[in-house]
Amino acid sequence: MTTQGFSPEFELIARHFTRPAANAVLGVGDDAALLTVTNGMDLAVSMDTMVSGTHFFPDVNPEALGHKALAVNLSDMAAMGALRYWAMLALTLPKVDHDWLAAFAKGFFDLAEEFNVSLIGGDTTRGPLTLTVTIMGEVPAGAALRRGGAKVGNDIWVSGYIGDAALAVAHRHGKLVLAEDDYHEAVMRLYEPTPRVALGQALRGLATAAIDISDGLLADLTHICRLSGVGATVDLNSVPVSSIGAKHINSDEGRNAILAGGDDYELCFTANPNSRESIQDLENVLGVPITRIGQIKRGKGVSLLGDDGKPVKIDGRGYDHFKGP
Ligand code: ADP
Ligand code: MG
Repeated sequence: MTTQGFSPEFELIARHFTRPAANAVLGVGDDAALLTVTNGMDLAVSMDTMVSGTHFFPDVNPEALGHKALAVNLSDMAAMGALRYWAMLALTLPKVDHDWLAAFAKGFFDLAEEFNVSLIGGDTTRGPLTLTVTIMGEVPAGAALRRGGAKVGNDIWVSGYIGDAALAVAHRHGKLVLAEDDYHEAVMRLYEPTPRVALGQALRGLATAAIDISDGLLADLTHICRLSGVGATVDLNSVPVSSIGAKHINSDEGRNAILAGGDDYELCFTANPNSRESIQDLENVLGVPITRIGQIKRGKGVSLLGDDGKPVKIDGRGYDHFKGP
């Protein structure tokens, strides 16, 4: 497309963010996009904002940031069990830097192509670097995975390994020290999380409740408990950690980061114990570790149990933007 003579804002949109939107009637360029929602499907809609200095270090590589802006939103679609996605991107930029934008767009669209996400519109404004993505997806009517369905006696499961992203953040904040190679690997988990989309879809009909881990395992499981009107116990020893996590789980700072740190974008879900075999099978089919970490109980809140079955205290309880000092 030739963009000469267009305003800088329009040129920016045309150059970096206008691509064919395969599953939309009308994509970027008009006053609004047009979508046709498939009969018999509910529309799942979610939005996530990332603010420089709060959600990412200002020196982040823009390609990784493009990936992450979409990945955290796809993760919400995964946690609902949705498929067939549309996204909208609100970009607030301190200045126009085409190299930065090209790298950001590459990270965004590479992931969009992998999961068939159509970018159908957005907004572009000037100000402190902030990225907001709205994502929409379809889910068979009535079958979405919600946070409120956990039942007493259900198993609690998580995908992947927990804690690497938060360990990278703790290292950057000087709270603990990762070996150089470990830091580089952990930072990849922080900036390039893998949304567990196929798992979320496979869990429809199996999981009774699900959430993606953005604020921290304990905080996000607490959300499930609150909405389900139940409590939970988690066995510290069964929480799956990577080889990096294994080196730090026995220190207070390490354990806090792993359990309360967040940014993993793994799924935490609950299911009836008679679904154990079907869930374990998914591990092989999808190539994602899936680990049983505890049980839903009567009562309120999440208790963490150590080796001896005695409660373990954790300082952090997950990220909260408005928490006091
Ligand atoms: P309006 O003035 O009607 O709000 P805009 O000039 O903001 O329209 O946007 C023009 C078109 O470009 C719209 O279709 C809008 O959805 C799209 N758009 C704007 N910013 C972005 C962006 N960052 N990514 C994708 N599409 C965008
Ligand atoms: Mg606009």
